[in-house]
Formats: sequence, structure tokens, C-alpha cells
Amino acid sequence: MIEITNIHKSFGDNLVLDGIDATFEPGKVSLIIGGSGSGKSTLLKCIVGLHQPNEGKVFFDGQEFTRMDFEEKVPIRKEIGMLFQNSALFDSMTVEQNLIFTLDMFTEMSKSEKIDRANFCLERVNLAGKNKLFPSELSGGMKKRVGIARAIAMSPKYLFCDEPNSGLDPATSILIDELIQDLTEEYNSTTIVVTHDMNSVMGIGAYILFLFKGQKYWEGSNQDMLKSDNKELNEFVFASPL
Ligand code: ADP
Ligand code: MG
Repeated sequence: MIEITNIHKSFGDNLVLDGIDATFEPGKVSLIIGGSGSGKSTLLKCIVGLHQPNEGKVFFDGQEFTRMDFEEKVPIRKEIGMLFQNSALFDSMTVEQNLIFTLDMFTEMSKSEKIDRANFCLERVNLAGKNKLFPSELSGGMKKRVGIARAIAMSPKYLFCDEPNSGLDPATSILIDELIQDLTEEYNSTTIVVTHDMNSVMGIGAYILFLFKGQKYWEGSNQDMLKSDNKELNEFVFASPL
């Protein structure tokens, strides 16, 4: 479980997050939604520790992450898998090397164990046999899947995905969502997905946090959302193409 309390983040005079509280539960996919520039990526980065919030706390299973020093964070970092907004693969490395890089950083596995694990993860995202390809040889959907394979290399307890559907056609997008949902159940991971894709919201939004003007304007499930009379939420939904 991940809990955040009173998260504030500013860049200079620009107050982006103005006191966000939320609880993200294991075994289900939580979504952070909101318009472009509403602070979704910033919130995710504050949770993962890529940004230090100006105020507020982040707890991973009761442990206060925000007050830990670099060394103390290492055991939790090992349990975090992250898919970045642009997949962030290393272009000069093959698919397999991209996965092994993560295992090199965090494990003492032997070379053959690492290759086995990489193969297992690639199979899991339906990319068996693509080990020796370079990112430039992959489609957008395949890059996302490599990004997901790398994110699950360490069997993460916490899985974070920033816009996993951006740039994908609707059919591929649904496959990615199903994969994220399945992996979340498989690892019982606390999964947080940033998206502005309404198909994802309707498909996998067990818990949704809607950001607007730096605040949590609304939270609930996708079923609650259809019944909500929150004006800003309805405007966001209305403006988002299905
Ligand atoms: P979203 O992911 O919802 O589109 P972001 O979290 O990327 O939004 O950005 C929210 C706001 O924070 C924007 O106004 C953006 O310009 C600002 N911002 C984000 N990251 C930085 C940064 N590293 N430095 C300065 N401003 C930033
Ligand atoms: Mg973003």
C-alpha cells in the first residue's frame, strides 16, 4: 500500500501540487487522471522519489519514504518498477541488454540467471525472441512492452506507469491495459498509472484520482465517475475522446 499526505510541489513560483492526500491499495490499478499540465507526472515523480516534495509525506507500506536518505531508500527502490512516459529505453542497447541493465544494478544474479529472467519477462509481455533487437527496430507498442518487461524484471511490489497508452492505437492500448491489470494481480503490486485515456479509465480504473489546479478534485471508481456531478470532472470526461 502507498499513502501520500499533504503533498506540495512548486517549481519556482509555479505551485503544481497543492496538498494531495491519497491511498493506493495493493492488487489493483489506481489511476491519476487530469488535463495536460495538471501535475500528474509531477505527482508520480514525488511518489517515486524523483522529485522531493516541498511538503508532505509518502509512505510505502507504512515506511516513510520521504524522510529516508539515499541508502535507506535502496531496499524500497528495488521493489519499484517504473515505465516512463517515453518508455526511456537505452537506444544503444538491445532489448535484452535493457532488461539486464536493471538486474545488474539491483541483483547479484549470474549471467545465465539474468538471461533467464530477461527471457521470462519478455515472454510475459509477448515479446519472446525479440532479445537481440534494438529499440529503433521496434514499433511504439513493442517499446512500451519492453518498458513494461524492464519494469517487472525485479518482480516489483510497486508498479508505476506514466502514460502507458500515449501514441498507441486503441487495440494495442487495450492490450497494454490488460497486461498492466494482469501483472498487478499476479504480483499483488500497488500499481499507479498516470493517464488521460478515457478507455483506460473505463477499463481498469478501480480507483481514480482526478487532479485539477493542483488539487485532488475528485476520487472514486470508474463506476462512481459516471454518476458524479463534479463539474470539472465531467468537463474533463466530456473533452476526452473515447
Ligand atoms: P502532466 O503530467 O499532468 O501533463 P506535469 O506534472 O508534467 O503535468 O507538469 C505540471 C506543471 O509543472 C506544468 O506547468 C509544468 O510546466 C511544470 N513542471 C513539471 N516539471 C517541471 C520541472 N522539472 N521544472 C519546472 N517546471 C516543471
Ligand atoms: Mg505527464
